[in-house]
This record gives sequence, C-alpha cells and structure tokens, in this order.
Amino acid sequence: MTQPVFRFAPSPNGELHLGHAYSALLNARMAAAVGGRLLLRIEDIDVTRCTPAFEQAIYRDLAWLGIVWEEPVRRQSDHFADYARSLDALVDAGLAYPSFMSRGEARAMIAEAEADGRDWPRDPDGVPLFPTVERRLPERERRRRIAAGEPYAWRLDLGAALAHVGGPLHWDEEGAGPAGETGRIAADPAAWGDVVIARKEVPTSYHLSVTLDDALQGVTHVVRGRDLYFATAVQRLLQELLGLPQPVYVHHDLILGDDGRKLSKSRHDTGLAALRAADLTPADIARMVGL
Ligand code: GLU
Repeated sequence: MTQPVFRFAPSPNGELHLGHAYSALLNARMAAAVGGRLLLRIEDIDVTRCTPAFEQAIYRDLAWLGIVWEEPVRRQSDHFADYARSLDALVDAGLAYPSFMSRGEARAMIAEAEADGRDWPRDPDGVPLFPTVERRLPERERRRRIAAGEPYAWRLDLGAALAHVGGPLHWDEEGAGPAGETGRIAADPAAWGDVVIARKEVPTSYHLSVTLDDALQGVTHVVRGRDLYFATAVQRLLQELLGLPQPVYVHHDLILGDDGRKLSKSRHDTGLAALRAADLTPADIARMVGL
C-alpha cells in the first residue's frame, strides 16, 4: 500500500486563526494515525494580497502548535510554469476560452434577462452564473482582442468539458457536506458555470493550482473546511480533464465565532498570534477547537 499523503494548504493573505489551527491539527492527527506524510503548501497565487510576512507568520504559528511538516514547502508562486502547461492543454483541447466580458457587462446582461422574466441560474454560493456567450466568439476575434491588449480571463467551457468527460462524476467523501452528505458524492460542476481557471496576468486560479498540486504532490487525502465542499465538483472535473488521480476528501466542521459566523482573517480576536501573546498554550488551542 502506498503511504497516505495529507496536506495543509493555507494562503498567506492574513493571519492564521482558530479555524486554520483546527484544520492543521486535524491533518496532522489523521496523518499520524495512519503513518502518513504531512505536507505544507503555501497557496500564494494572489501575489497582490499574499505577503512574505504572512508566510513567515504561518511557519511560526504552525511550529508553535507543534505541527511538523516536510521540507521543502511547495510555494505556488514558484510554479506558474506548471500551471501554464495545464492551462495550455485545456485551451488546446478547446475546453477553455478567453472571456473579455467585464463584471459590469455581465451584471447588465443578467439584469436584462431577469427584467424579461427569465430565471438566471445561481451557483452554490448564490452568485449568478457568468454568461456563456463568449464560448462562441470566433477565433479571429479572440486573437484580435488579445493582440489589442484587452483584459480577459480564461474560463472553462463547462458544456465542452462535460461532453469531453461523457458521464457523471463522483468523489469519495469521508467527512461530510453541509447536509451531512458522505460516501460516494455526485459532483455537479455545472452548478458553478464557466469558472475562471486563469487570469490574463496569472496563468492559474485557485481551482487549477489546487487540483494540479494535489496530484503533483501525490496527495491521497484532502482534509479541509466544509466551505470548500461544493468546490470539489470543479476540482473533480479538472482531474478528469487533465488525467489526474483523485484523492479522498474529508470536509470538516468550520470553527465559528461567538456570533455563529465563520472566522475570517480580518478578525484578530481568534488569530493564533494574538492568542499566543495572551499566554494561551498549544494545548489550550487544541481544547478550544475540540481536539
Ligand atoms: N488555500 C485555501 C484556503 O486557504 C485552501 C485550499 C484547499 O484546502 O483546498 O482557503
């Protein structure tokens, strides 16, 4: 049997809080329980919001918690060439297209359709799906607009992608979804519409890099917060399109604040650095998150 591989994959765009501590500790405990490896991955493709200072703080906070991870750490911003290759493969296969429509133009198109009495579909987060009209833009027009320097994003053509896959997709859930879903889960990537898989300036997106890295690093168990449960459908689709293996997924509870809301990086009261400064111990943190 191959050795199980777990990973904790924070973004250095803010301070780690109790929710991250829970996820990291859970990954470490699950890995230890099965004699698995634990990797740490720095998800810093958003080079405007991620900073070296936040990255250093991640190492400090995790070491303080007693987490031991393998070196070297994979930092996504060091691997844009890997993502660009996968993006090219999707574009060459006719599964991704450049989308020039701005958010404002999309909003106007949707408002117009709704004013005509049409029900515009929404994604699992309640956001209206992005219009798909640019799937049909002639190739010459695309080249002309790219050459003219227009802004654009690369979007997955969900219609072409689903046709390419040719059948239903599933994933193995060993945690639970928001309604307690567990076991073999039917993936519904179409619920997200034509997602962005890369930007003009950055040849990747969260979905593309997370999917590719989990495969490149041989991750067998993706243990992460339940807020990413529905996103798994898009990642399953990308695995299928790119010929990548599929890990097992464990979506865990989210740690909520006193107000019952998800913790955020802008709330400093539950930040690990602040809790450490207030003389709490790693054992206190583990207790606070129920481990
Ligand atoms: N980098 C993502 C985050 O900080 C987590 C990605 C994942 O675990 O799939 O929310």
